[in-house]
This record gives sequence, structure tokens and C-alpha cells, in this order.
Amino acid sequence: MNSTPHSPLPTPVSFEFFPPKTDEQRAQLDRTAAKLKAWAPEYVSVTFGAGGSTLSYTPETVRRLREEHALDAAPHLSCMGGTRAEIRRLLELYQAMGCRRIVALRGDLPSGMASYGDFRYASELVEFIRTECDGFFHIEVACYPEMHPQASDAHADLDHFVAKVRAGANGAITQYFYNADAYFRFVDEARARGVTVPIVPGVMPISQYAQLRRFSDLCGAEIPRWIAKRLEAYRDDLESIRSFGADVVAELCRKLIAGGAPGIHFYTLNRARATLAVCERLAG
Ligand code: FAD
Repeated sequence: MNSTPHSPLPTPVSFEFFPPKTDEQRAQLDRTAAKLKAWAPEYVSVTFGAGGSTLSYTPETVRRLREEHALDAAPHLSCMGGTRAEIRRLLELYQAMGCRRIVALRGDLPSGMASYGDFRYASELVEFIRTECDGFFHIEVACYPEMHPQASDAHADLDHFVAKVRAGANGAITQYFYNADAYFRFVDEARARGVTVPIVPGVMPISQYAQLRRFSDLCGAEIPRWIAKRLEAYRDDLESIRSFGADVVAELCRKLIAGGAPGIHFYTLNRARATLAVCERLAG
């Protein structure tokens, strides 16, 4: 696809969006995509709602980003609650759209949904995509430098990540974290287990504290105490939160790049400002 060829950044970047459901949200994503495109992302990705709750919105958003913004948009596909037939239909749709990259996930069982569906773990989805589509898709999977919250322990979680890569993943994107050492350690351990695929750090820019706290509690990402205490102390002073957050996240990215990270995947939450502030610091 036609993303801008020359990036002003010192590393390849990708941007993650969620599928908008209203016209207002669509307009917001259009504005965000237009601004972030200037940073020449390698690709952008579109999340998939738990239990298929964005079954039509994800493909619609992928199509919109590809056709109207000329971005290489990759769908996320989570298998929890889905059947083989449903997943097969989506794979066919994405093949027809010309998507060559897919982010394959288990997802989480939404409250009220009783059945796991035809797949139990993301490794089974990766295997299924490989069998159904051979080498058509470049498959990214998720990994967790600070451990997935449901894993029995960090070693078992690493074993499960290794199994996902052996099932046919071409690359991995991490859950976000603010401790660079957790990432470096995780990559070293994965390499020691024979994993050779790129492991790209997922980075969450900081724009407000309450939401970040909520997300982090849910996904098991640690906000280091010194960061949390400063963010708390800014209270409603959004400008200071944004400026401090951009400094902290840009410094994290610099460390990751200097330590050999092969790129940065930004969780944008469909807003440009916090991600732009980090990109500007990295380019400056
Ligand atoms: P898995 O790799 O299947 O792992 C899930 C848990 O099961 C882990 O604790 C693992 O250790 C354990 N496990 C794996 N295999 C086995 C086994 N054989 N036996 C026992 N235990 C096992 N969610 C969405 O709903 N939509 C999205 O679009 C989305 N995008 C994401 C993008 C990224 C980059 C990341 C990091 C996460 C994303 N998520 C998304 C969240 C993700 O779906 C959740 O974290 C989910 O709980 C785990 O998904 P997974 O693919 O890592 O699962």
C-alpha cells in the first residue's frame, strides 16, 4: 500500500486504532489517521471486539483506512467465542481486500457469554490461519513482558508465547509497559528459547491518569510508582500530564530503540495528540 515512503522517525512505527461505531467517532478516526499518516507508519491495525462484538465494524474500518487513507491497514482477529466458519469468512474477506498482515489473538470472553467457541487459545487460531491460508498472511501475535494476567506464572506464559510462534506467527507485539527492562528480559528469554521473530514493543502514550489506571489494572501493565505519583499530583492539570507523559514515553521509546527494539507499535485510542507529541520528541 501507499504509506508515505520516508519516515522522519528513527524506527519503523505502527499505529493501533479501534473500530468506530458512530459518525462522530468515524470523523474522529479520519482526523487522527490523516495526522498520523505524516509519520509514515509501516502499517496501522484495527482491533476486534471481544466475542465478535465488532464483527462488521472491524472490516468496515480496515476497508476505510485502506481505501480512503491509503494506509496499509491490518485487522486484529480474536477467536474467543468464534466458530471456524465465522473465522474462515473473515479471512476470505480480508484476503479479498488485499490485507497481507493479521494480528491473531484469543481475546477475552465478554461477560454473559458462556461458550469459548471453536478455539481455546491464540496458538490454535494461528494454526488455523496457516492451514486455511497457507503463507498468505503475515501473522502477528500478542505477548506480555509483564506476564498475561491469567497466566499461572511467567515461565508458563513464555512457554505459551513460544508455542504461538512455533504454530506459525511471523512477529509479535507486546502489551504496553513502562519498564524497559521487562521488555529486554522478555526478548532475551524468548531468544534463548529459539524465538527469532521480531518482538515489537507496544507503547501506550499518556494523556490522562484515570483511564490509564483503569486499563493497566485490567491488562496487568504496571505503572511505576514514580510515574503514578507525579500523574496523581497533577490532578486536573491536563497540559502538565500531557507534557510529562510525552517526556516519559519518548524516553522509554529512546531506550527501547537504543536497546535494539525493531519498531514501536503505538496504542493510539483513536486520538492523535498524545502519539504525535511522542513522535515529535523522537524526531527532534
Ligand atoms: P493466548 O496467547 O491464547 O494466551 C491467553 C492466556 O492463556 C495466557 O495467560 C497464556 O499464558 C494462556 N495459555 C496459552 N496457551 C495455553 C495452553 N496451551 N494451556 C494453558 N494456558 C495457555 N483483545 C481483543 O479482544 N481484541 C483485540 O483486537 C486485541 N488486540 C490486542 C493487541 C495486542 C498487541 C495485545 C497485546 C492484546 C490485544 N488484545 C485484544 C487483548 C488480548 O486478546 C487479551 O490479552 C487476551 O486475554 C489474551 O489474548 P492472547 O492472544 O494473548 O491469548
